[in-house]
Amino acid sequence: MSSQPSTWTPAGGAFWAGRWHHPDTTLEVLDPEDGQLVGRVGDCTAADVDEAVRAVAQAVLAGPAWPIWQRREALHRAASLLVEREAAFAELLSREGCKPIRDALREVQRAVETVRLSAEQADRLEGQTLPFGDTPRGENRLGWYTREPVGVVAAITPFNDPLNLVAHKVAPALIGGNGVVLKPAEQTPLVALAFTELLLDAGVPADRVAVLPGRGATVGAALVGHPRVDLVSFTGGYTTGNAIAATAGAKKTVMELGGNGTVVVLPDADVRRAAQAVVDGAFGNAGQNCLSVQRVFVARELVDELVERVVRLTTELVVGSKADDRTDVGPLIDETSAARVESWVDEAVEGGAAVLTGAKREGTYYWPTVLVSVPAGARVLTEEVFGPVVSIEPFDSVDAVVTEVNGLEYGLQAGVFTRDLDAALDVAQRLRVGAVMINDTGDFRIDAMPFGGSKRSGVGREGVPFAVDAMTEPKIIAIHRSPRPA
Ligand code: NAP
Repeated sequence: MSSQPSTWTPAGGAFWAGRWHHPDTTLEVLDPEDGQLVGRVGDCTAADVDEAVRAVAQAVLAGPAWPIWQRREALHRAASLLVEREAAFAELLSREGCKPIRDALREVQRAVETVRLSAEQADRLEGQTLPFGDTPRGENRLGWYTREPVGVVAAITPFNDPLNLVAHKVAPALIGGNGVVLKPAEQTPLVALAFTELLLDAGVPADRVAVLPGRGATVGAALVGHPRVDLVSFTGGYTTGNAIAATAGAKKTVMELGGNGTVVVLPDADVRRAAQAVVDGAFGNAGQNCLSVQRVFVARELVDELVERVVRLTTELVVGSKADDRTDVGPLIDETSAARVESWVDEAVEGGAAVLTGAKREGTYYWPTVLVSVPAGARVLTEEVFGPVVSIEPFDSVDAVVTEVNGLEYGLQAGVFTRDLDAALDVAQRLRVGAVMINDTGDFRIDAMPFGGSKRSGVGREGVPFAVDAMTEPKIIAIHRSPRPA
């Protein structure tokens, strides 16, 4: 793979029950930039899902033991192989997805960290003795608990970070001793197949992993509803999350859903720094990022300067081909998505919004767009845009901003810019979101932190150590010894 990435195709159209499969029916993977064919993958069925889940369940319950030291070694090897293959992974990720090559390379490097960090979580798989002597009912008992795998993890991933979000589910599941069945996004399955191939090369037992490309309504739904799946780990949109919750019933679920990225710029903020961070956070991956900056509330006295700086930096961004390493902004994932973003901006403009730059579409490309005077209730303010659009709004009262943000349906991460620590902490403590970054936008994450949101932004937390906790459970063993003879 590393020598000729552009001609590389994964070993098969799907992988389960320890071997590559080539289903008769396939799905085409197209480059969103020009519609060129990048590869074909299996269009798996519900029957395939059933076989795959049963095989993984069999491996976990009745297969040979996979000791923790072997899991740790396999994942360390996987991280090293990913470093060796980083150029090929970056090229594949960029071609089937939306990221310019520079950003694709950064994602591969993030995934290396995610896998390595997962390997290191071997140390976390510990238990402790239990204080049975604390109560008269515990007399003559001693025991302990250990952390055990939940069993079969179903991993369902979106298109926008097609490698690192796969790594965030598969690697913690494996270090925890589980088996995992992965359903990657329909638009970006190739990098998931390549990652599975890499895990096998690294020594992950072939019967513990499966990857089944296919449609959400078929493969995804069959996985979620399968009685032998023990935990569903999902990243994607709120609507899909709702459908999954309805199908999963009482199964364990972890869901990382959408956001609508708020930034608050207080009167004493460093405007230059805030403007650069807003532009980076709003337009990276063409805004197709759950942490994307979407709404900027700025103190009225700073609004002119902030707007001027944001617009200037935005017009300097290079919109172009993903293969060009000068490109900052590539395409949206498909034309339907680009047309949806266009229609939401048009709706805001009809309601009175002013476009300061952007609002232009060509095919799957939508130009980075800065809006002001957006009417209340416009979808670019209340929904998740998932495109390169940012709205800037002046404020006079911090309390009103906090009330407005807390009234939104999403609450993933937010940012606050100020030099006043007390003011920063005050805003940070009052916002109902999963994280607040001070003097940064909410578009920041390290892979070890507990990641997730409040309200419609998710259920539970991901982030490697927290994913390992979710994917393992304590199991008690206790001994009832005979009472000592009197
Ligand atoms: P999506 O449409 O919700 O799809 C996500 C995954 O779910 C895909 O693999 C999809 O398959 C599958 N799916 C669809 N219907 C399903 C069903 N009924 N049952 C089971 N699985 C089903 O999301 P997307 O458009 O790929 O990604 C964008 C969304 O992801 C945004 O809302 C973004 O905020 C969110 N996201 C959140 C985070 C986070 O960590 N909070 C990170 C990244 C992205 P198909 O591809 O075949 O439809």
